[in-house]
Amino acid sequence: MTATVLLVEDERKLRELVRSYLERAGFAVLSTGSGAEAINVATTARPDLIVLDLGLPDVPGEAVAREVRAANPTPILMLTAKSGEQDRIAGLELGADDYVTKPFSPRELILRVQAILRRNAPSAAAGSEASFGDGTLLIDESRRIVRVRGTEVELTPTEWGILVALTTVPGRVYSRFELINRVRGYDFEGYERTIDSHVKNLRRKIEEDPANPLIVQTVLGGGYRLGFSRDV
Ligand code: CA
Repeated sequence: MTATVLLVEDERKLRELVRSYLERAGFAVLSTGSGAEAINVATTARPDLIVLDLGLPDVPGEAVAREVRAANPTPILMLTAKSGEQDRIAGLELGADDYVTKPFSPRELILRVQAILRRNAPSAAAGSEASFGDGTLLIDESRRIVRVRGTEVELTPTEWGILVALTTVPGRVYSRFELINRVRGYDFEGYERTIDSHVKNLRRKIEEDPANPLIVQTVLGGGYRLGFSRDV
């Protein structure tokens, strides 16, 4: 099945360049230079991934990401011209799954897009559910389904990756460095604090009281651990 990428970039030349690379890599591409149009297209066409420029003339990329994320957990790869760490972290706080700083190589961008989609893809294998905390948390890795207290929860690729990593060995403490490597599959230049933003978003979706988390627990000075044990 051909994956559809929504490309949002107001610089026409760059948009056309990235579009041609994406098409050559086999993606169906929808593109626009307008943030308002991007919000529309994202909610109606349901692309598999959004490549989103942070600096748009009408609606800022941050606002586009927020709107899109309010509707569904479409993976987002941010394009940013701002190279300051704060700006990068701000982008990831919105739940972006990765970012590329301009100027970037289109080949690198394609590799990142493919990596996010690969992480997000359900496998064809037969489903089997792992259960944690007396059935409070159910995870079907092959079908990429999470259910909490009986309700299916939609997670972004990064939120999913963190949760699955923590369930590998319940109770074991995973450092931010370890989590970011597990989730992204490569070193992330030490932006370990971005994990905290994703954990915050994850808790909002799965914890009854995100301020007093029972499932994803913080270990001071250590990292995070799953607060449940695996049911047998
Ligand atoms: Ca721009």
